[in-house]
Amino acid sequence: MSLQINPVLCRAGVMDNYAYIIVDVKRDASMVIDASEAAPVIRKCEELSVRPRCILTTHHHFDHVGGNEELKALYHLQIIGPAAEQNLIPGLDKGVQDGEEFLVGKMRVKTISAPGHTSGHVLWYFPDDKLLFTGDVLFNLCIGGIFEGTSGQMWDSLQKIKSLPDDTDFYPGHEYTPHGLPYALKCENSELMRSYAQRARQRLSEHLPVAPVSLGLEKKCNPYLRIEDKNIFEQYF
Ligand code: ZN
Ligand code: FE
Repeated sequence: MSLQINPVLCRAGVMDNYAYIIVDVKRDASMVIDASEAAPVIRKCEELSVRPRCILTTHHHFDHVGGNEELKALYHLQIIGPAAEQNLIPGLDKGVQDGEEFLVGKMRVKTISAPGHTSGHVLWYFPDDKLLFTGDVLFNLCIGGIFEGTSGQMWDSLQKIKSLPDDTDFYPGHEYTPHGLPYALKCENSELMRSYAQRARQRLSEHLPVAPVSLGLEKKCNPYLRIEDKNIFEQYF
């Protein structure tokens, strides 16, 4: 099934979050990933003429859940998020565990637990569509801060991402490419890295998201994914 992914920039210029509105092409169902704030998400839903059935929340931080209550009241939708953070996520209806799969319409979603940024953080993986929503674990050319977990947990979470197929497109929770790019270029000067940088700068200059990038490319260019030794990774933190 092919899906339409609509990034919605939230908290622009401050935190540059992305909410995503996912619509299946037959328009049977739609959902929101990380409703950072309500107004821009509602505007986009109206533009697309969709009523989302649910919100999938990656983790409890305010910049990922700020729109939950308002969107729930407006669309009577269900809020799904990590069971481990169920008391912290506003409006949560259904807590899910690592490996748990569920359907939204005909769209199949798999929960992948990825602690480190927060202790219950999850990734939303669409195995049939080869899409991955990484919240604040993986960004373009950088990774999320470690707030609740340990660097060892973050390492394990990144290894899970690395084990997914190269042709998976990933969508991060923020536009942090401008932060990641200079260091990534310092670490790696391959043809591939330079073309990634060129495309990223072009997209940013047009105020477009750098996402999606394939995991295959990210694994070759993101300095934190390129580290092959857990001890070296842990020295960064
Ligand atoms: Zn966060
Ligand atoms: Fe965030």
